[in-house]
Amino acid sequence: MNRTASQALFERAQHFIPGGVNSPVRAFRAVGGSPVFIKSAKGAYVYDEDGNEYIELINSWGPMILGHGHELIHEAVAEAAQHSFSFGAPTRREVEVAELIVSMVPSVEKVRMVNSGTEATMSAIRVARGFTGRDKIIKFEGCYHGHGDSFLIAAGSGAATFGQPDSPGVTRGVANDTLTAPYNDLEAVRQLVDANKNHIAALILEPVVGNMGCVLPEPGFLQGLRKLCDEEGIVLIFDEVMTGFRLARGGAQERFGITPDMTTMGKIIGGGMPVGAYGGKAEIMNWVSPAGPVYQAGTLSGNPIAMAAGQAMLQYLNAHPEVYSQLETAGSKLAAGFNKSLQKLGLDYTVNQIGSMYTLFFTNQTVKDFPSAKTSDLVLFGKYFHAMLNRGIYLGPSQFESMFLSTALTDKHLDLIIAANEDALSEVL
Ligand code: PLP
Repeated sequence: MNRTASQALFERAQHFIPGGVNSPVRAFRAVGGSPVFIKSAKGAYVYDEDGNEYIELINSWGPMILGHGHELIHEAVAEAAQHSFSFGAPTRREVEVAELIVSMVPSVEKVRMVNSGTEATMSAIRVARGFTGRDKIIKFEGCYHGHGDSFLIAAGSGAATFGQPDSPGVTRGVANDTLTAPYNDLEAVRQLVDANKNHIAALILEPVVGNMGCVLPEPGFLQGLRKLCDEEGIVLIFDEVMTGFRLARGGAQERFGITPDMTTMGKIIGGGMPVGAYGGKAEIMNWVSPAGPVYQAGTLSGNPIAMAAGQAMLQYLNAHPEVYSQLETAGSKLAAGFNKSLQKLGLDYTVNQIGSMYTLFFTNQTVKDFPSAKTSDLVLFGKYFHAMLNRGIYLGPSQFESMFLSTALTDKHLDLIIAANEDALSEVL
């Protein structure tokens, strides 16, 4: 496959953009080689600068749940653009979008729009801290909540100790206020809470993890966290930036029947435009300025074009529950196809899948937390990634990512992906 135009652009980009990209994973560092520069996309396909066509499983890292170029979203954006791009004043659509979110997401009684998932999580923990009057938060090793300082913390020396900065530039002071626990380990969380009694403001997690690859909560884990947070006065925050409006109309919280105190949202909520949101119980959200004393603001928050895209997306999902059964069927079909191929090839790799999220881990271990995800053969994953790309299937360029299905994938596409997967595995082994 000729990708000389992409290669030339990457070469140019590196002179002017750090690492040649505006978000690190796009640089293909984890898989080697030069990134593909995308020119356009339609339905289940993306097209690169060299004119190559790929069936894609990134979908902008989640937002494009209906595939690319959905006409209702395009129409809504085109209509909104006729009235100018930003006012910095309240608009009717913001009210309508808020009403829609409250009607769809079980935990949300009030909601504030922001511009990204990162802003949503940063703001949510600030509000939780204001509300509880406590400083510390608990996050889980391997969960990603955007690039806010408080979240760039690894488990480091274990659950009972203070975290270490993951990134230069995160101060020791900030790191000290973020405690980390292993995912799916309720007992470790209990011990952490006991050791920091009355100091934990919030516990934040991805209710289904996408950011160590796709990892599911074990039975009882979410229920146990809910109970613990209730007992200890801790604000339970579900980061549903990935899972919101994807795993069910009302996100993972609807799917698992656990209602957090706060929820952070992003990706699908903007229909492909830069949008995030955080919401929750009214008694907590009433702490947000100007209703309450916790300050949070944004020049472009609730941007009219972004709201138009998000509203069209959410209205569609709200009115079409069959989206979720279609994605459920597609996800199960892919996982079954992959497992059949693995069996045929005598491989015992792990496929984690739920609804329209999945990861094929190059390990024979059950993947239930970050250490088990990290037993994957990353070199082999890199080879497999390129073998798939050369077969016209564009995957997320890292083992520690979930793939995202869209409703634009037909049975024909799914069969092509399953066949390419088997072929690619045979090539790289
Ligand atoms: N939270 C989760 C669960 C995410 O997956 C991401 C991004 O992938 C974020 C937060 C950050 O969102 P954004 O990239 O829009 O800042």
